[in-house]
Parts: sequence; structure tokens; C-alpha cells
Amino acid sequence: MGKNPSIIERLLLKIDQLAKWKKILMITIAMPAIYALVFLTGGITYSFSHTMYLVIIFAGMSLGTNWGAIIGAIGGIVLGPLMPLSTPFDANFVGYVWQEPVFWIYRALIFTAAGSAMGLFSTILRKKIIMITDMLSHNYETGIPNIYSLSNFTDKDAREGKAVVIAILINNFENIIERLGNDFYNRLLNKLYNLLIHKLDPQTTIVQAANNKFWITRPFTSFENDINLICEILKHPLSVVGIPIYAEYAIGVDQIEMQSDCKVIDSYRHADIAAKDAQRRNITYMIYDDTLSDKKIGIELLSTFLRALEENQTFLVFQPIIDLKTLKTVAFEALIRWNHPVHGLIMPDRFIPLVEETNLINQLTDWVLKKAIDKEIELQKDGYKIPISINVSANNLSDPDFFTRVQSMIELSHIGHQMIEFEVTESAIIANLEDNQRWMKKMMSDGFTMSLDDFGKGYTSLAYLSQFDVKIIKLDQYFMRHIVASEGVKTIVKSAIDLAHKLGCMVVAEGIEDELVTAICQGFGCDLGQGYYFARPLKEKDLDAWLKRDKEK
Ligand code: C2E
Ligand code: CA
Ligand code: CA
Repeated sequence: MGKNPSIIERLLLKIDQLAKWKKILMITIAMPAIYALVFLTGGITYSFSHTMYLVIIFAGMSLGTNWGAIIGAIGGIVLGPLMPLSTPFDANFVGYVWQEPVFWIYRALIFTAAGSAMGLFSTILRKKIIMITDMLSHNYETGIPNIYSLSNFTDKDAREGKAVVIAILINNFENIIERLGNDFYNRLLNKLYNLLIHKLDPQTTIVQAANNKFWITRPFTSFENDINLICEILKHPLSVVGIPIYAEYAIGVDQIEMQSDCKVIDSYRHADIAAKDAQRRNITYMIYDDTLSDKKIGIELLSTFLRALEENQTFLVFQPIIDLKTLKTVAFEALIRWNHPVHGLIMPDRFIPLVEETNLINQLTDWVLKKAIDKEIELQKDGYKIPISINVSANNLSDPDFFTRVQSMIELSHIGHQMIEFEVTESAIIANLEDNQRWMKKMMSDGFTMSLDDFGKGYTSLAYLSQFDVKIIKLDQYFMRHIVASEGVKTIVKSAIDLAHKLGCMVVAEGIEDELVTAICQGFGCDLGQGYYFARPLKEKDLDAWLKRDKEK
């Protein structure tokens, strides 16, 4: 924020904003006034005549080159043939003596030149200022207005509850840039911006707030309609140079009417926090409320997490993984939940990213492994031989004792190495490729089963698949969400399945939500499926009933 403008600056700004006719009227009044001043101070011999420069400068600056020249010429005539060298107010007055033409013509020419120079100078200056303002208020790469274009939305508007701020995050922007380049991505943003501008209310301000973020400000408090319109736009692929691309997105909303003493900048931050939360939960949008404040909840959650593990506030749910030929359950994925005494049920997307940033992730994975082994022992006692897979984080892999701990826990339990499977994401492996490849080889040679989780979500291309020593590839949910509508996604899924099979791997399609997607996956020869269509993650107490029904299939 700059300092407050002085009174003179404010006055000049006000004058500059006046209508053209008002400026001409001011000049018309000033001319005779200056004539009177020069006459009353003794005539052209005295230096009061220089006052005329004020009017000429004003005309040139505020009305441009032509008007500067005209007013300069008129000023020259007013103080030329119409003004005597000496007037009765001069102590030396001896009668009217008129100016030699050569002198007043020369002065009139200087006035005209000064007026036009001033006009030219200020026109160039104005153009440069507009250009610089435009450059500063637009993103250099995309040409989309940036956050400096938001200056017309003030804290006062925010306090009066006049607005809603919506943040849109593009989740897969790194992927798009990686695969198709920066230029393509910038065009994609431009396309999206233009669609938003055309579809949303004309009073809406849209700016590009970061490489992968738009901020939308609305001077109303309702927003549902906007969310629907944004989702409608992003439901379809955005076509850039003939390539259709889905932008994955998350939306955060902050209703400013809810805050009393808020600053508008807080509102943008709130919308960002809500969007990040939606991103973590893998949902379309989230409305900000105070409990979402990232830092507050982050520190609180982390400080109580270890106790939560010890007191069994955390528990596991088990999602069946289904054989797509027989439709029988072939494995369970163990997923953690946290029943928080204050915040209620917290999903892993909310706390795992926080826990992963600390050493606590080792305790978490040990806890999950122990509970999964206990469950596996129970299953085997009941006569089921169904493996359970657990999720492993990048930081677990960098813990030098992890392998020995896993090995000794499983050996002690006598359930068999192949009964606990380990899901690792490609981004976790890539974080330390060589070490992790070695670790995975060791696990595999010891009889453990490894699967590559969220395949396709990260950076790797299909060709990279052979680098990973895994038995199972889990295709990311993204593909299942778009497989019906997009021929491109169908081709990718089909190629990934064929390639995985050539490499001797099984494929799990994650996130299957309906019959049609199941049929497509079956048609492509996909081995296994996981998703709400078959079963949501099951509580321990429901596993028995599920398995009994499974047996009868
Ligand atoms: P993930 O490993 O990809 O797990 C699958 C997620 O997709 C689960 O979410 C599951 O409930 C959800 N899901 C399954 N079928 C469908 C479907 O048909 N539609 C949709 N929309 N979602 C479906 P959940 O349980 O919220 O877990 C989210 C993520 O949190 C997991 O993604 C995993 O990365 C992480 N996570 C969960 N439990 C653990 C854990 O014990 N340890 C570690 N390190 N990470 C975990
Ligand atoms: Ca998983
Ligand atoms: Ca997954």
C-alpha cells in the first residue's frame, strides 16, 4: 500500500477527472482573469504576464497537444495586441503604448510551442502509465488480470458483507505442464478464463492469483449458481489446439457476510484454505468456516495424534478389492480413520499429509500394519485366506529400519509374507528412485507383494512402468471418472492394462462407481476393481457379513 496522497495531489487528480467542457470553462474564466491581473499590475512590462503559463500548461496537460497549442496561441494574443506595455496602474504611466508586433508574435509562438510540448509530453506519459498499469495488472504469461486488478474491492465492501470470494485450484497443472508444456498450459488457462468471463455474472471479477489458481469475487452473497456454472464448464474437456484436456479442480468459497471485522485479504486466504481442503478430500468444493484454518487445526491435530494412536481413537476400515471376472473379493485395502473427540470423524486426507511431514508417519504405518496383521489373523482363523493391503508413505521408505520391522512383525505373526501387501505411490518412489527400487526388490524377493498406487496421477509415463518392480498396478480414480466421456482416457486405460499384462502385472481399477465403468474395465481385460459400486470401505464389524455374502456368489 502506498502512502496517502497529499491535498495538492488529490486536487490535481480531481481536476484531471473533470469533464472536457468543464476544463475548457475553467480556461475561459482564467484567461480574462489573467488579462485583468496583468492590466492591474501595470501591463506587459512586468513579469505577472508569466502567469499565463499556468493556463497553457494546464490546457496542454489535461486536454492534449492541439488544445495546448490553441490555448498557447490565444494566450499570446490576449497578452499581445490586446495588452499595452504600460497601464494607468503603472507608476510610470504616460499614456497607452502598444507592443511592437515582433515581440508579441514571438511570445505567442513560444506560448504555442509550450502548450503543444506540454500536450505531447503528457500524452506520451499517459500512454506509458496505461501500459505499465496494464502490465502490472495482468499476468505476464497468460495476459489474464492478476491480483493487482482487485484494488477496486475494498475492506469496507468486505465488512459490509457485499461479496463472496471463490478460489479455483487446478489440481493437475504440473501434470499438464510436464506433458504438454508451459505454452499449452497458459493457453488452457486463457481458455478457461474466457469461458468463466462469458458464463458468470458481468459484475464478477476474475483474476489469476497464481500459476494454478483463479480468484473470483462477486458483489453478492449467493454463490451456488456460480459453483454450478464453474462445474458445468470444467465437466467437459477444454480443447486447446485440438487437444481435449480435463482440468482437475477444487473450489473454495468464503462468504464475507459471515465475518465482521475482516480484511478482504483474509477472505482470499480463507477461500484458498477451503479449496485446499476440498483438494485434499478429493471433493468438488468446500465452504470456509473457522475450523478449517489450516495452521490452527494442523498444530492441534499433530499434537494429539500420537495419543490418538495409543488410545485407539484411530481405526481401520477395509475396502474390498474385487476380481472382475468372478466378482469375488480377492483382497482388502486397509484405510485409516480418526474418530476425534472434538472434531468427530476425520478422513485421512485431512491428517495424513500433516503426519507425513513428521516422523509420526512411522508410528502411523506401524500401527496400521499391526492392526492389519491382527485382522488377517482373525480372518485366517475364520477360514478366509484374503490378503490385506496397507498404504506406505514416502517417508516410511526412507526409514532404514522399516524393512526389518515389517519383516519381524510379519514373521512373528505367521500369517505368511504374501498376506500383507504394500501400496506405494509412484510419487513416493520417485522421491528417491534408486534407493526405493532397491528396497522394493528386497521386499519382493522376500515374498512380499508390492502395488503401485494411484498410477497415472503422478509424472510417470506408461513407458516408465517397467522401472518399478511391482506385482499390481492400481489405476488412479481419475481415469474411472472420465472413462465414459473421453475416448482418450479409454485409450490410455486400455494401453496401461495391455502394457501391465505384458510386464506380468495385475491391474486394479480404482474408484469404480457404476455398472457401465465396470463393464468397460471388464471389456479391456482389467483384472481387479475397487470402488463404491462394489463396496464402500467397511467397518470391521461388517466384514464378516460381507465375506459370508461373498462366499455365496
Ligand atoms: P488411496 O490409497 O487411493 O485410497 C483409496 C481412496 O479412495 C479411499 O479414500 C477410498 O475410500 C476412496 N474410494 C474408494 N472407492 C471410491 C469410489 O468409488 N469413489 C470415490 N470417489 N472414492 C473412492 P480414503 O479412505 O479417504 O483415503 C484417502 C487416501 O488417504 C488414500 O488414498 C491414501 O492415500 C491415504 N490413506 C488412507 N489410509 C492410509 C493409511 O493407513 N496410511 C497412509 N499412509 N495413507 C492412507
Ligand atoms: Ca491405496
Ligand atoms: Ca489409490
